[in-house]
Order: sequence, then C-alpha cells, then structure tokens
Amino acid sequence: MNLANLEEILLEIPIPKPGLKPAWTPGIVLTSSKITLIKLTTDEGLEGYGVGTALGENLNQFLETVPIPLILGWIGEPFGIEKIMKLLRIAANIGPRPFALEMALWDLIGKICKQPIYKLLGGFQDKVKAYCSTAELKPVNKMVKDAQDAVEMGFKGIKLRARRTNLSKDIEVVRAVRDAVGDDIAIMVDANQAWGHLPPLWSVKTAMTFGKVLDKIEATWLEEPLHEQNIQGLKKLRETIQTPIAGGELGNGIYFYRDLLVNDIYDIIQADITFSGGILECRKIAGMCEAFCKELIPHAWNNGFAIAATLQLIGAIPNCSWLEFPYAPPCWTPEVRDTLLKDPITIDKRGYVAIPKKPGIGVDLDWDKIEKYRIN
Ligand SMILES: [Mg+2]
Repeated sequence: MNLANLEEILLEIPIPKPGLKPAWTPGIVLTSSKITLIKLTTDEGLEGYGVGTALGENLNQFLETVPIPLILGWIGEPFGIEKIMKLLRIAANIGPRPFALEMALWDLIGKICKQPIYKLLGGFQDKVKAYCSTAELKPVNKMVKDAQDAVEMGFKGIKLRARRTNLSKDIEVVRAVRDAVGDDIAIMVDANQAWGHLPPLWSVKTAMTFGKVLDKIEATWLEEPLHEQNIQGLKKLRETIQTPIAGGELGNGIYFYRDLLVNDIYDIIQADITFSGGILECRKIAGMCEAFCKELIPHAWNNGFAIAATLQLIGAIPNCSWLEFPYAPPCWTPEVRDTLLKDPITIDKRGYVAIPKKPGIGVDLDWDKIEKYRIN
C-alpha cells in the first residue's frame, strides 16, 4: 500500500465573545481558532489525518518548497516515519513545524494494523487522570468559581495561570483556590515565562518568592517559572523550593530535550506532539525521561484531534500521570475545542479520560463542521 495523495485543509473556528485572552500571549484576544488539518490518502483509499500546532500555522510554504509528489514518493508506503522525519526536521528549521504529516502517517499505520496507536507504541495504560488547564488571568473570585466548577465536573487537578503585573494577585489567587478546593485536588501553576520573553517577566527572586508560596499550598508543579535558557536560575530555584518544576512545551527534537535532561533544570518534561517533532519523537523523548527517572506530561493546549493524538502517546508510555485538558469557559469549552470531532473528549466522574480505542488516532471527524469552517 502506497501513499497517493496529500491535502492541506485550513479551518477557522469562531471563538465565542468576548474572545479568549491567553496568559501566554499578553494583550492578544483570540476570536477564532485556526487549524491545519492534513489528509493523507493511500492508493487503496485509506485516509489518515493529522493536525498542526495550536498556533494554526499552515504548511503551504513547506508544501510549495517540497512538492507533494516528492513527499509522497520519498515516504512511499505509510510506515516510513523515520524517512519522513529526515525531511520534516529540515522543514521545521526553516518554516512552520510540519509534524501534522507525521501524525497523519500514524493515523494510517493504526488503521492498517487495526489498532489504536498507543497499543503499537507500548500499550501501558487505557485511561489517564485529566487536569483542567485554564488559560486566562481572571480576578480571584472568578478563578475560585472556575476551580469549584472544575472540581464539580470531576477534575482532580486544575492548572492556574500566574502572570499578573502584580505578583501579590497571583499569590492571592493560588491561596484562595487552595482554600476553596481543599487539599485533595492537585493545583498546578503556569507562569508561561518561556513564551518568547514577553512581559511581565519574572526574575529568579520573583520565581523563588512565588515558589515558596506554592510549597506552602503543596502545589503539584510550577510550570515555566523562568525561561529555559536561564539554566543557572532554574537550578537555583530547584534547590530553593520543594515544588516540582515543569517545562519544555515549545521545544523541538530529541537534542533539545536531551539538553534539558542533562542540565537537570526540570522535574517534569512537557514536550508537545505538534511542536516537538511528532508522536514517534515524543515516544523517544518519553524514553529519555524514563531513563532520567522523570515524567513526560505532554503539553496539549490544542484542539480535540491533537488531544486525541496526545492521548495515544500517553497510553503508550509508563511515565505520564496526567492529561492536560484545556478548558477555559466561556470561550474554550469542549464544544469549541473539539469542533472537528463527532464526539467531544470528556472526563468521567472520577476525573479520567479514556484513551481512544478505535484504530489510529481513534476519533471520528465531523465533516459537516469541517466543510462549514473550511477556508481554503
Ligand atoms: Mg504551559
């Protein structure tokens, strides 16, 4: 069976008013979600799908530079993941990260083998606990309400954002949420300090002050408290606070993650299958983390199809105890996030998400919605 066609479908899905104001890009209000969906077809008519990064970059530049027949001929049959990675790593160095193609190949491989991908790559677990990953810097009373609602929905963990211009407000939020949800709910806090050096920027002392507050509320982790290039600062911070430190969501490739592990700056590594090199690359990164006795808890702030693909990675590996479940009402709900899917990804009453069991990525696309929101 050989690859016969490659199609890039660009989608723009509206985000309800007043728009999403993510903490990681201060000042930007998102009114739509852009998605690149790659469709690979074999000469026997089997279809495989993959989506790009949460930034919605389209791959036109790559597909014009390296013509589609050349890509299809280069890979040949759908099992050639390492072959296409030779090409995709070069493409990622000069343009948008094109790992949606790798995801689409895995979708095909799973369908050919009639197995979900996680069973082909390790088959460790068939469900995982989900944490509610918020996005915005809301006032204290609203964050408390969101946290209470998340617990009511069944979540056993919630990730707050900390990047207000006044650190005392961040401190007030985490203390108030701990008081409101009690000691049995995991609280993670993300300062998003590795997102392109955007202000407000934290110093090592700021991170230490905040980290000591997290020690007191027994937070599960502190994410990106400093830029990952601040190796000395992160080492000092890890020596000063008890709370585990997480990071690495924007990295790309095994060498980047090797350096994070050798430098020992994070307790938890957060590679993302769309940013970091694809499903197989993240499987390799998970193996490296395992050898360093660390968890890989993938970054997954993305649409539902990417989350389903992330679940396939999580199901395969023995060192991942949480799924990042993006949920930031009223703008980023499963209905918006999972518009591409026939059935939104949901948590059960105990706070777990099942790894999709159908072949490939394991979820069905909603073609009525795809045609409705298609822009190319
Ligand atoms: Mg993060």
